[in-house]
Amino acid sequence: MRTRLVAGNWKMHTTVREAHDLAAGVRDRLAAADGADVVVCPPFTALAEVGRTLAGSPIELGAQDVHWESHGAFTGEISAPMLWDLGCTYVIVGHSERRHLLGEDDETVRRKVAAALAHELIPILCVGESLEERDGGRTERVVQTQVRIATLDVPPDQAGQLVIAYEPVWAIGTGRPATGAEAGRVAGLLRGWLREWFGEAAEAIRILYGGSVTPETIGEFAAQPEVDGALVGGASLDADAFARIVWAVATKDSSGAP
Ligand code: PEP
Repeated sequence: MRTRLVAGNWKMHTTVREAHDLAAGVRDRLAAADGADVVVCPPFTALAEVGRTLAGSPIELGAQDVHWESHGAFTGEISAPMLWDLGCTYVIVGHSERRHLLGEDDETVRRKVAAALAHELIPILCVGESLEERDGGRTERVVQTQVRIATLDVPPDQAGQLVIAYEPVWAIGTGRPATGAEAGRVAGLLRGWLREWFGEAAEAIRILYGGSVTPETIGEFAAQPEVDGALVGGASLDADAFARIVWAVATKDSSGAP
């Protein structure tokens, strides 16, 4: 019942020209994408151009962050209505780089999730433990707390729209992904907590894995019943690699190419 999803996080990469070329490459390779939703999240500066490049294609546009207020004296920030105005349908919230490098806390993430939903953007809520937390046996508590606080303001009738990306911090950008079994175990725990908090709606919430996903590693994540897709960083900057990941998620077969 859940449509699988692959999201590409381009982080602080690409000029407008480079973003256009990358988006065109993804669009041309995935013109007939079937079996999975696909979203690319360029930097703010390239959203308008990538939106134009993807017009008429099934690939959706997402942003990498959002402020919780809709307007006001918040120099340098971008609001949900501004993203919606550019054609965004998704927004990444609480990415570990924002939490760990830019000081974003659970309370901030909670406000951003609420703002996204209030303005018809689907939040891709990122959660995950650090290496120290993992080694200390605190993965479950950390992930549960992050998701609980972030979703406190989500009304049950909107909960089904949420996307949660389980991204262990130690796996992001390190070339050292979790195993499929580890990702599947945490995704299963997440589903259980979401059922407690949101009842039936939990079945519609998509849970992604993120952390050093490549065309070579996606197969074991796609095979997990509770993993509904992937949030992809580095490999999303290569149109071929990204298209192969989408293909594997859409078909649950990592041996083929589009
Ligand atoms: C990410 O940015 O969310 C991510 C998972 O990055 P990478 O795929 O490069 O590890």
